Amino acid sequence: MRKNLLDHTEEELIDIVTGLGEKKFRARQIYGWLAKGAASFDEMSNVPLSLRKALAEDGYYIGQPEVVTEQISKTDGTRKCLYEFRDGARVESVFMKYSYGNSICISSQVGCLMGCTFCASTMDGKLRDLTGGEMLGEVLRMRSLTGEDINHVVIMGMGEPFDNYEEVSRFLRLISDPDGMGLSLRNITVSTCGIIPMIRKFAEDFPQVNLAVSLHAPNGEMRKKTMPVARKYGYEDLLNACREYTEKTHRRITFEYALISGVNDSAEDASELADRLKGWLTHVNLIPLNEVRGREYRKSDGSSVAAFRKVLESKGIAVTVRRTLGSDIDAACGQLRALNRSDK
Ligand code: SAH
Repeated sequence: MRKNLLDHTEEELIDIVTGLGEKKFRARQIYGWLAKGAASFDEMSNVPLSLRKALAEDGYYIGQPEVVTEQISKTDGTRKCLYEFRDGARVESVFMKYSYGNSICISSQVGCLMGCTFCASTMDGKLRDLTGGEMLGEVLRMRSLTGEDINHVVIMGMGEPFDNYEEVSRFLRLISDPDGMGLSLRNITVSTCGIIPMIRKFAEDFPQVNLAVSLHAPNGEMRKKTMPVARKYGYEDLLNACREYTEKTHRRITFEYALISGVNDSAEDASELADRLKGWLTHVNLIPLNEVRGREYRKSDGSSVAAFRKVLESKGIAVTVRRTLGSDIDAACGQLRALNRSDK
């Protein structure tokens, strides 16, 4: 039984409220308060005290996380929050300002099982999945903390969203509900390491949401060395699923490619990648590796990044180099970690 009110759709809240002998419209009021960011029943001034009490006595609560620590980057204003949920589970979320609006990167799991060798999030394994309401709580808490609007959400923090598909779906429905936060699905991006059956399902369920796929290699052999998931889902099969996705949704797929010095960043690698992606609706986002303590990989130097980019462009592939935000507070891609160890 879900006791976090943020987990519930308006319909479900109606059932809860009428189950307590109250009128339907009370559910709408409560739902409105939750979307406004109310973090406790006390704030719900137009909801009868008796109903607020009855909800609390039934064990319901508003599952916004508490902020354990907040770090603000000196270089670009990026903020990273370490959050804690009621059971002590901790995740991180990052707030970033761009010219096109404010963005939040949220976590979908506490830790991760995927085992990518360059990523910090997987170093402690997976402690548990987050629920859709907890993901919504990450956004609501950040909005009240910063006092700023959130215009974009990327599910690129800790965890593999397609290893927690049902809850990520719930989150997408909740945050896009016009009676709730009403964020456009087109302003949301989900990033996956490439779980093929879920890519197909996602194309059916959420064609409006942007999809990013972490590729990080120009072929299967190389991909298997850094991404264990590549042993389960082959490279060609993954590209085929992505191509089907673009044909079905007419949406451009973003391929993320972290450039690791001496591992996947040569001009030949770029050329092979371009040949693989030529002729379809894609975009490559190059991420100079963010170095992770405890991992031996080094980031590609500026000239390798530029050369890699040039090869892709010369072969007609759309490419951008991701601006690294928040690296002075370990808030950059792949640096989020479940256990906030002092040796981090
Ligand atoms: N599990 C999802 C989303 C989380 S990671 C996925 O794999 O896509 C978000 C992005 O950061 C992914 O592309 C991931 O591969 C990348 N990433 C992980 N570690 C990184 C690092 N050390 N430097 C740069 N990018 C990294």
